[in-house]
Amino acid sequence: MQNIKNRGMIFGASITVTTENINEVYSDAFVDNLYNLGCKAIIYVEYVPVTDESSSLAPDEKDRGFMKKQARRQRRRKKGMVFISFPGDEKSSGGCVAAGRGFFHINASGGAEPCPFSPYSDINVRDTSIREALKSPLFYALNTQGVLKDDHVGGCTLYMNKDKVEEIIRTGKTK
Ligand code: SF4
Repeated sequence: MQNIKNRGMIFGASITVTTENINEVYSDAFVDNLYNLGCKAIIYVEYVPVTDESSSLAPDEKDRGFMKKQARRQRRRKKGMVFISFPGDEKSSGGCVAAGRGFFHINASGGAEPCPFSPYSDINVRDTSIREALKSPLFYALNTQGVLKDDHVGGCTLYMNKDKVEEIIRTGKTK
């Protein structure tokens, strides 16, 4: 981080929040340390268990309330930083913020994907500009077909609509 800061580049940090680290990662000391290293944004991502053994690490409703309160507090405290919570903030911004609605993701091969959690791509930034990539048929379809604004119950909207996303990729249908 220090090296990136020295080069004058903007960067952020993505933090996975578990029941074990929740107090630490929202603490002033943790946030101040990242801020002093030049970090301009923190993305807090709720831990999602993939096995029963790790389910105790997943935040519950009470923890989500805590996360919301702490994010609000840190926003007031550190004006020069951006704090984003997944999936909490998606709920309040009217749904999924992938596919250029709020952000998008470029994978290691250059493929522009709606989100790291929706790893589908129909355009590569090695062959096109980022501006053009944002207008890809997949992104266009997701933005215009109301998929992103489906009711958000706290999980991943595009994961729940995986079949729809795969159909758009397969058929190239944008309407
Ligand atoms: S694809 Fe899932 S994780 Fe990504 S922004 Fe949409 S709802 Fe959130």
